[in-house]
Amino acid sequence: MKSIILFLLLNTQLQTKTDSVWICTGRYSHAYHNTNTCKGLRNCKGMEIYVSLYDARNKYHRKPCNYCYN
Ligand SMILES: [Zn+2]
Repeated sequence: MKSIILFLLLNTQLQTKTDSVWICTGRYSHAYHNTNTCKGLRNCKGMEIYVSLYDARNKYHRKPCNYCYN
């Protein structure tokens, strides 16, 4: 029983990590990034924020970045 709980905890942590992406809040930005050092974020006119992949897609309507999702 203990090991099952541990596994669930571990799994949740992994998911939070892989399901979060970087986006720029600037009005001309339309992509999400898997790293904030991506060159697609260099021209960011707003703030760089770390959000869940779900929010990036559905709330901010972002597409995967051409540089970091190739
Ligand atoms: Zn990128």
